[in-house]
Order: sequence, then structure tokens, then C-alpha cells
Amino acid sequence: MQDIRWKAFWLHFCWCFCCLIVGWIFNQETAWLVYAAGILAYIAGHLYWIHRLYLWALKPSLNFIPNGKGIWEYIFANLYQEMRRHSRSQSQLSSTLERLRHATSALPDGVVVLNNRNEIEWFNEPAIQRLGLKRHHDEGQPIYYLLRQAEFVEYLQAEDYSEPLKLKSWRSPDITLELQIIPFASKQRLLICRDVSALEKTEVMRRDFIANVSHELRTPLTVIGGFLETISDMQGEISPDIQPYFDMMQAQTTRMRRIIEDLLTLSTIENNATLKDESDLQMLPLLNQLVNDARALSQGQHTITLHAETTVNLRGSYNELLSAMSNLTSNAVRYTPAQGHIDIDWQMRGEHVVFSVRDTGIGIDAHHLPRLTERFYRVDSGRSRDTGGTGLGLSIVKHILHHHQAQLQIESEAGQGSCFSIVFPPQRILSA
Ligand code: ADP
Repeated sequence: MQDIRWKAFWLHFCWCFCCLIVGWIFNQETAWLVYAAGILAYIAGHLYWIHRLYLWALKPSLNFIPNGKGIWEYIFANLYQEMRRHSRSQSQLSSTLERLRHATSALPDGVVVLNNRNEIEWFNEPAIQRLGLKRHHDEGQPIYYLLRQAEFVEYLQAEDYSEPLKLKSWRSPDITLELQIIPFASKQRLLICRDVSALEKTEVMRRDFIANVSHELRTPLTVIGGFLETISDMQGEISPDIQPYFDMMQAQTTRMRRIIEDLLTLSTIENNATLKDESDLQMLPLLNQLVNDARALSQGQHTITLHAETTVNLRGSYNELLSAMSNLTSNAVRYTPAQGHIDIDWQMRGEHVVFSVRDTGIGIDAHHLPRLTERFYRVDSGRSRDTGGTGLGLSIVKHILHHHQAQLQIESEAGQGSCFSIVFPPQRILSA
């Protein structure tokens, strides 16, 4: 560029010098005329190249870019290089996009790109099959115009996408879809749609199997339990030597019946994806019942206190909540040695309401905490069995809380006691 400027300067300088010589040979007027003619020719040259640039800009093409002269040669050369760089990066970009499009089309999952107004920007082939979207027709349409199911609209608006949403397909009741929204960039979202019908079928088979087995075992166990009770009532007729065996058989039968009852409760709760008997609950009677049950179980061995914010009530299922909360209180009684303290709290914490049971019991080592809600997971199976545990209590609690969109929080330290809390979301709270 510097070079070009010097060239222009020297050209002008030489022209002035020539005009001076003309002025010296002829006269001043002739010199000015020659100077003006030169400048006009210079301007005409520039106008010519501007016109060529204008014509080229109307239909820009890398093949037809003019060569130019002087400073215009430099301008056109730069323009040519810039155009080449641009077209190279554009073709790279479009080939990357094309590869990305092929890759997402090869995915077994449906992918839909949504903008910040939840309008469809792009979708792949599987999304057409799973969600029934139409290419060219549905692009630009808000997704909730096309997927109108209330659960999906609620999921989209709730803006909590930590968990996927399972839905029966509106195209065929045999198909179960799992939809998950993943926010990306500033306000865009990816909607991933998976066909989980096969998984769902296996899960239903597993649940049905457990429910059927439990159901089938219940009757013979009741009969055996009944006979054992009758026999152990026949005092004097049984030899004292075999009496302990009868007691043991009775204890084991009772344990098996408890496991079966818990398995049936668990499968009933699991089979109901949503709450069936939801109502506005007065919490004080429920909390009082919990405390009375806990005191009856403790038989005066623990100090049990209730601190309740009486004006805060809840929308939910009375039976399910009583079952979940009494699981926590009975665990506190069973895992706290005599003379221990158990505090039951029902308090607002920010926008949430929290039910918590704090005990001064045996506590739990930190590495067990993430697994406590698994079926049959026990820290100490001997103690659990001795105190009438089945290992299913916290698993039942987890499923009930899922129905109420609530969360279980556990704080515990071995030897220091535990605090089990249920955190209910604001939408469940009914304040007086
Ligand atoms: P279980 O019927 O065995 O009590 P749960 O599912 O209710 O089964 O609890 C799982 C395990 O968690 C228990 O076996 C016990 O080891 C531990 N646990 C539960 N609550 C407490 C508690 N309050 N204090 C100490 N350990 C507990």
C-alpha cells in the first residue's frame, strides 16, 4: 500500500515537473492546460475502474474480477484474495454442515433444533418418523403447535430439563417416547426424541412379574402364618423343645409377609405414573398421627418432638405421604438406640416446605448415602432384619416423592445421627 502511495506521489510529482518544463518552453497558460488535461485523464482513469468495479459488484464472480491498473490493480488483487478466502471458508462450512446433517440423520434419535421462541429451526429424519414433523412445512412453526400434549407443553414451559419426559406417542399407543430438551448456545434448545417402547415393555414385564409373584405368594404365606399361629396357641400340646422352632418359623413368615406387602406397595406406586388420589391436605392431623405412631413404635424409649408450621398445608396423596413420612420416622426409631432424641420438623425453607426427621441414632457412613434408596440396600442387614426392616422402605419413599415432584435429602455421619428431609416444591404448597 505504502508502495502504491509513493507511486501515485511520484507520478503526480513527475507530471508537475513535465508541466514546469512545458511552462518554461512555452508559457504558463499552456503549462496549466497540460496539467489540467493530465489530472482529468487521471480522474477519468479512476472513474473507469470504479465503473468496472460497479459492474463486477452487480454480479460478483471470482472468475471475472478485473485486473486493474495502478492502485486498482492492488485493490482488485486484494478483493480477489478476500473472495477466495471467503469462498474457501464457506465451502468448508457447508461441507461441515453437510457432514453434521448426515451424522444427525444417521442418529437413531430424533433431533429438533428450537430457537428462543421454541420455533423449529431444523430437524433430522428420525424426528419426522417419531414426531410426525413435515419437512419445509413445519420449519418455523412453534413446537407446541405440533406436539400439543399437555405434559409436553408443561415440560417445555417449566424450563427444568434435568429429567427426560416419557410420553405415549399420539401416533400409536404402542409407542413410548422419551423427550429431553438440552439448552445450548445462548437461548437455543435441542429436543431429543427417543423410542423407548422396548425398554418400557421390559420394565412393565419386570413390574408385572414382581407384582404377580408377590400376589401369588401372599395367599400361601397367609395360610402358613395362620397355621403356625394356631399351633403356637396350642399351649401345652407342643413339646417345649420344638416351641422355639415354631416361634422362629412364625417370625420368618411375618418377615416374608412384610416383604411381600412392601413389594406390592412398591409395584402399585411404580405402576401409577402420576398421582391418582390427590387432594388438599391438612398437615397437622397427618403430622400428629405420625408422631403417635412413632411413639407407639418407640414404646417410650426415645424423646420424640414435633415442630410444625401449622399454617402450611400441602396438595398431594394422604396415603402416599403418610407412608413416605412414616417410613422415615419408623427408620429413625429403629436406628436410634434407647434414650435417643428424634425431632420431626415441618417448616418453610425459602420457597420450599421441608419435612425432616433428625435423630441421634447410629448414623450412616457417607459412601452408603447414594445407594440407600435402592431396593434391598441395607447398611447393616442384621440390624435391619432384627428391627423388622425389609430394605424397601426408602425405595418406596423415593417413588412417592417422585409423584409429588419432591426431593429426598440425607445428611448423616456414622455414630452422629441422621437427618432425612423431604423438600416439597412451591407448586405443592397450600398456605392458610
Ligand atoms: P430397612 O427396611 O432396612 O430399614 P430402608 O429402605 O428403610 O430399609 O433403609 C435402607 C437402609 O438405610 C437401612 O437398612 C439402614 O441401614 C439405613 N437407614 C435408614 N434410615 C436410617 C436412620 N435413620 N439411621 C441410620 N440408618 C438408616
